[in-house]
Amino acid sequence: MKFCTNCGKPLIEQIPIGDDRVRYVCPFCNTVHYENPKMVVGCIPEWKNQILLCKRAIEPGLGKWTLPAGYLEKGESVAEGARREAWEEAYARLNHLTPYGIFNLAFVSQVYIMFRCQLIDTDFRPGEESLSVRLFNEDEIPWADLAFTVIEKSLTLYFHDRKKGIFAVHMEDIEPRQRL
Ligand SMILES: [Zn+2]
Repeated sequence: MKFCTNCGKPLIEQIPIGDDRVRYVCPFCNTVHYENPKMVVGCIPEWKNQILLCKRAIEPGLGKWTLPAGYLEKGESVAEGARREAWEEAYARLNHLTPYGIFNLAFVSQVYIMFRCQLIDTDFRPGEESLSVRLFNEDEIPWADLAFTVIEKSLTLYFHDRKKGIFAVHMEDIEPRQRL
């Protein structure tokens, strides 16, 4: 961050009075520019015994498989955001969204909220950010070609819970390049 969003003047880095960490502060109008983690919302769309995955058309993770997920927009609830992302990435329509996982990615200042949900139909197709979209059985999941550790973690927990027949809500810390 270089310039004040209030008055347009250059910012400096300093610890504001009463604070305990360095912030971008405007020395002209005294506006403090707080930077907070971003929230990512996504889902595990089920169709019978299968799961919908998207092959990414953009970096990061170009050509790798992922669950529909993306940044929450202002004014959205987390469930609305998850629905929108599934529509944008896969033209997938969802039903019965149930909270499934909260994942802290402190190393990139992101928090993921993942839902379980059902596809309403199979009229999905690739959106702008996807090269292809398809359903996978558990034994077809491309584990070595998943785009992100948090996706690998979500799917690992999901299939583990499904085997037990009990879906808990999970909260986990994801580390950089963590291998499961
Ligand atoms: Zn200013």
